Amino acid sequence: MEKVSLDTICVQGGWQPKNGEPRQIPIIQSTTFKYENTEEMAQLFDLEKSGYFYTRLQNPTNDAVAAKIAALEGGAAAVLTSSGQAANFYAVFNICEAGSHIIASNEIYGGTYNLFGVTLPKLGIECTFVSPDATDDEILAAVRPNTRAFFGETISNPGCRVFDIERFARLAHSVGVPLIVDNTFATPINCRPLEWGADIVTHSTTKYMDGHATQVGGAVIDGGKFGWDAHSDKFPGLTTPDASYHGLTYTKAFGSMAYAVKLTAQLMRDLGSTPSPQNSFLLNLGLETLHLRVPRHCDNALKVARYLSADSRVAWVNYCGLTDNRDYAMAQKYLPNGSCGVLSFGLKGDRATAVKFMDSLRLISIATHVADARSCVLHPASHTHRQLSEEQLKEAGIAPDLIRLSVGIENSDDIIADIEQALDKI
Ligand SMILES: *Cc1c(COP(=O)(O)O)cnc(C)c1O
Repeated sequence: MEKVSLDTICVQGGWQPKNGEPRQIPIIQSTTFKYENTEEMAQLFDLEKSGYFYTRLQNPTNDAVAAKIAALEGGAAAVLTSSGQAANFYAVFNICEAGSHIIASNEIYGGTYNLFGVTLPKLGIECTFVSPDATDDEILAAVRPNTRAFFGETISNPGCRVFDIERFARLAHSVGVPLIVDNTFATPINCRPLEWGADIVTHSTTKYMDGHATQVGGAVIDGGKFGWDAHSDKFPGLTTPDASYHGLTYTKAFGSMAYAVKLTAQLMRDLGSTPSPQNSFLLNLGLETLHLRVPRHCDNALKVARYLSADSRVAWVNYCGLTDNRDYAMAQKYLPNGSCGVLSFGLKGDRATAVKFMDSLRLISIATHVADARSCVLHPASHTHRQLSEEQLKEAGIAPDLIRLSVGIENSDDIIADIEQALDKI
């Protein structure tokens, strides 16, 4: 498709039917694909021709939806995964191996923090976490000869910190490694990290991209511009022959598609984590309205954040769209049209006050989820982090009174009225 607006890509990107073909993207619910002769199939196995042979590697429904997401992010190629966790794992593991090291912002999703801090070390990949507020010198001091990537989230879950993509990209490039950015909360509607210098973008498509809580999924998008060959010593997996494909070299054979082809041909082949075509179909239905839903989430969240800020029963509100937020200036730079629908706040009182408030909500449901069309809340101290003492909660940077609110796309007056009646009960 020619370069068109994001709105149009949301609706029509990825799948352009030919004469007489279905208007909606077909769900190719098949594990396998048939060929007339052995030679044709052999060429597919050797990556000499592109085509489908087994859904663990590639499937037409998945590919069409991946193409839409690649277009939305302005990337060279995208690969869908079966979860956001798999996307972040693959994004890193595609260029790391035992003995590698990465640097990640410490303001990231808990699942990713665990993946990098606990699970990757078991595979021999170490991670140094740095504060997004660290100085350039402090960040560069964390770099080692074996550092292979930098990582951060455009808007962190749940801290709502805005990542200085341009600065981290400059630092990563100064030491010859790519910057990977998890763009789940901002979505390409509000920020396109590749335009700010990021090299690889990841998503939990489970969140706004789907938007209706129907499927768990992820995506890895390659900008296609990082110079792997210029740093060949660091990325031999991409720049030297792959014995599992008769000595093919990804950068030579596939150019700007090298990273994405390797991720599919090696990681998907050996580790799986492919989404089902049915799930990709559902994801695509969500994407068709992403450009309409995201601004509504942001408008509603800003109204709710302002309402909470003005209420005397509320102790504090953290939303990067508020002018007095510590990341407001950063949000203005990277997210001028709005940030996301997720905010956190605390009530004056104790844990019991927060519980009473949440239990009194009617429209807003209690759910372990964010970025859904329906408004929902979570109280980490009572739910995701309930095993921790008040002391441990503080160490983990989670205030005992922190309530995470994911503002949906209902009418904002109704959302605020629900909050008000719950506040009246505490
Ligand atoms: C939810 C989330 C993930 C993990 O995604 P899953 O689809 O739940 O595996 C990763 N990053 C961010 C920012 C998230 O919000």
